[in-house]
Amino acid sequence: MLKQELEILLSPEVAFDEFARYEAILKEAQITPGEADYVHLRRRSIDARGRQPLIRLRADIYRKPAPADLFGPWFVYPNVKETSPRVVIVGAGPAGLFAALRCLELGLKPIVLERGRDVRARRRDLAAINKEQQVNPDSNYCFGEGGAGTYSDGKLYTRATKRGDVGRVLRRLVQHGATPDILVDAHPHIGTNKLPAVVQALREAITDAGGEVHFETRVSDLLLEGNQLRGVLTASGETIEAAATILATGHSARDIYELLHRRGVLIEAKPFALGVRVEHPQALIDQAQYRRAERGLLPAASYSLVHQTEVRGEQRGVFSFCMCPGGFIVPAATAPGEVVVNGMSPSRRDSRFANSGIVAAVELTDMDVAKYGPLAGLHFQQQIEQLACQAAGGTQRAPAQLLGDFINNKPSTQLLETSYQPGLVPVQMDDVLGPVLAERLRQGFRDFGRKIPGYATNAAQIVGVESRTSSPIRIPRDKDTLQHPVVTGLFPCGEGAGYAGGIVSAAMDGERCAEAVRALVGR
Ligand code: FAD
Repeated sequence: MLKQELEILLSPEVAFDEFARYEAILKEAQITPGEADYVHLRRRSIDARGRQPLIRLRADIYRKPAPADLFGPWFVYPNVKETSPRVVIVGAGPAGLFAALRCLELGLKPIVLERGRDVRARRRDLAAINKEQQVNPDSNYCFGEGGAGTYSDGKLYTRATKRGDVGRVLRRLVQHGATPDILVDAHPHIGTNKLPAVVQALREAITDAGGEVHFETRVSDLLLEGNQLRGVLTASGETIEAAATILATGHSARDIYELLHRRGVLIEAKPFALGVRVEHPQALIDQAQYRRAERGLLPAASYSLVHQTEVRGEQRGVFSFCMCPGGFIVPAATAPGEVVVNGMSPSRRDSRFANSGIVAAVELTDMDVAKYGPLAGLHFQQQIEQLACQAAGGTQRAPAQLLGDFINNKPSTQLLETSYQPGLVPVQMDDVLGPVLAERLRQGFRDFGRKIPGYATNAAQIVGVESRTSSPIRIPRDKDTLQHPVVTGLFPCGEGAGYAGGIVSAAMDGERCAEAVRALVGR
C-alpha cells in the first residue's frame, strides 16, 4: 500500500549509497526505520544550480506488501501462426526492432531484413575502421544489428513525448537487459558496452516468437505493381512478398533514397543540421558545471548549449547535439572516401574526454534543389564529407583544429590528445565547412565560451564533420494511416523517413507503424 510520496535533495554521497539514502528518505518522511517497508525511487536528477551539486530524488514509500512489480507490466510476445499476415521490416535499428516486437503483439509476422551483420560480427568491422581505416559499406557505426544506436552513448531522452509511449520503450529495454535505472534517471542512458547485449536480446525475443531476422540481407529493389508495394527484392536476388513493408533504413541509407527516387516514389528534400564535434577534457566540463575540481560520485558532467547567430543578414541557431560526457568520438562514415564523426560513451562515462556535436541548420536554400531535386540535401552532405576526407589525407583520419585557433582564424600547428582512434590531421576547418557555416560556428563557440569558463580555448579541439544529425530527406506519409501518400503498402518509418531523431523516438515510431499496419491488414 502506498503510504507517502516525497521529494528530497541529498548530497551525492548520501544519494548514491543505498543504505544512507534509505535512512535519509525515512527521516524526511518522519518514519522510524523498520516501520516503513519499501522505498521505491521514481525519479533521479542532478541539481547543479547551488554552490554544491545535489541529487534530487522523488520516492514512494510503501507499507508491506509493496506491489509485486512496480515497473511493469512486462511484455509477452505470442507465437505467430503460419497464417499470420507477413510484414517486411527493412532495417534492424530501433525503429525496425520495436516495429517487429509490436507486430508480434498484434498478431503479425515480422520479417526483418538487415544489410549489416549481427552485433557481435559487427564489432570486427568497427575495429577495421578504427585500426585499418577500412569502411565496410554494409557494416559500420550506422549499419548492422541495432542500427546507428548500438555503438552510441545510448542516451534515452526525447522531447517527442507526445509521439508515443516513452515508458513502454524504456520498459521493453529493461525487460531485455538494460539497467532499471533508465526508468528513474531524468537523463537515462545505457552505454555502448551494454547496448549490444540488449539489442541481441530484443532480436532473440523476435525470433523466439516466430518472427524472422535476416542479416547481410540488403534490400535493393521494390516489388511495385503500379502504386501497390507487394514486397522487396534483395541484393542476392531473393523476392520477399508481404502484406505491408515498413521501411526503417535510417538516415544513412543513401542507396534507398536513390532507389525510391529512381522508381518514382515521392520523396522530399528537408533541412538538417551540420557542423563539427568538439572535444574537451572531461575535467574542464566537470569543473565548470559542478564548480569542483573532482566530481567524486557525480556522473561526468554534460551541457546543452544554443546560440542565435547572424551571418550575412540571416539568423540561424547553432546548438550542441548528442553530447557524450566521458565518451569517444567515433568514425561514422558509411562508405570509403568520406569522413563523418559522431560520439559514443560507455555506461560509466569514464573516458577523460567530453565531446559534443556543435551544428547549425542547413536549409533548402543552401542546397542545389534545381539540380538534384529531392536528393539535394544528400549531395550537400556527401560533398562536405568527401571534402573532409580529402582534406585529412583520404583515410578515416579526420580534419581537426584547436578551438581557440579556429575562433581566431589561425592554423593549428599541433593538436591535442584525442579519443578519436583513426587519428586527426590539422586542417583549417574553414576550408572544409565553407565561410558561412564556419562563421556561424565561430559565433556559437564565442557565446558558449561566455557560458562555460574555459570552453572556447585551445584546451579543446574541433573535429569534422558532424553531418549525420538527421535525415536530409523526408519520405512522406499520411498522418493517420502512416502509409505513403501514393504507394500503398509502404510505411516510411523512423529517422530515415524523417519521423524520429534518436533511439527512443525511432523506437516509438516503429511501434506506431506496426499499429498502422495492423489497422491496414485487419485482424
Ligand atoms: P537506424 O538506427 O539508422 O537503423 C537503420 C537500419 O537499417 C540500419 O541497421 C541499416 O543497416 C539498415 N539498412 C539500411 N539500408 C538497408 C537496406 N537497403 N537493406 C536492409 N537494411 C538496411 N540517438 C540517441 O537517441 N541517443 C544516443 O546516444 C545516440 N548516439 C548516437 C551515436 C552514434 C555513433 C550514431 C551514429 C547515432 C546516435 N544516435 C543516438 C542516433 C540514433 O542512433 C538514431 O536516431 C536511431 O538509431 C535511428 O533509428 P532508426 O531505426 O530509424 O535507424
